[in-house]
Amino acid sequence: MLSLRGVTKRYGGFTAVAGLDLDIPAGTLFGFLGPNGAGKTTTMKMVVGLIRPSAGSVHVGGQDVAQHPLAARRIIGYVPDRPHVYERLSALEYMYFIGSLYSLPRAEVLPRSEQLLTLFGLGHKRDHLVESFSHGMKQRLVMASVLLHRPRLLVVDEPMVGLDPQGARLLKDVLRAEVAQGLTVMLSTHTLEVADEVCDEVAVIHKGRLVARGAPAALKAQAGVAGDTLERVFLTLTAEGAATDGAGPVALGGGPT
Ligand code: ATP
Repeated sequence: MLSLRGVTKRYGGFTAVAGLDLDIPAGTLFGFLGPNGAGKTTTMKMVVGLIRPSAGSVHVGGQDVAQHPLAARRIIGYVPDRPHVYERLSALEYMYFIGSLYSLPRAEVLPRSEQLLTLFGLGHKRDHLVESFSHGMKQRLVMASVLLHRPRLLVVDEPMVGLDPQGARLLKDVLRAEVAQGLTVMLSTHTLEVADEVCDEVAVIHKGRLVARGAPAALKAQAGVAGDTLERVFLTLTAEGAATDGAGPVALGGGPT
């Protein structure tokens, strides 16, 4: 579903993402992990076509994102780390606004919006202005709106920040249910328990390079000590001085390389 080949992003003399190769099969919930500044957001912006790679290519559903940006965006849903919502719209108006961006028929938008708002616990708030929403409610609204056009690839940057335990549980359940229906999700998170619990596979990026990928259980097994946590694996792989140059990623069972 998603394929990155040699994807590189340079800002002047600084390389934020260095020659990333990654394949994410359809129907996978894929966790994208890495410390602050590792290159996660930069990579995700290249995946959704918001910034162009300095080198390399991104294909989504077989489409080259740089060459066919509109076709690619039709099948992508993107939730940035700081999503923008128009405060002076009601929740339902916001859904209509997003539906119009994707040229969805109005007759289709209303029932789907009601269904999604209810799914995210906002059914009773559909006519309330977004400005009256809490941070977590705004996040739920953004998640509801991003599913409106039935994307095949969902790219979600740090969705758990600011969600209460119910909101986090809900989001995890919705993502798993959508993935069971065939959605592919690329999710960046610093919450390693989330990655451990819901992701089929994870990749760890450090200083712009892929340092490991595999099923969470396989990564933990690699650490070699019973009871090891993904956190310990993560800290080991991303410690200052950990090898990031030329060694190639640690690839473990559970996914294609
Ligand atoms: P975090 O977990 O803190 O969100 P991240 O893994 O998402 O981090 P990125 O935002 O992708 O990291 O940033 C990767 C590196 O690229 C950082 O060193 C950042 O300072 C740099 N960077 C990002 N955007 C720009 C830009 N527009 N100009 C210059 N440098 C940038």
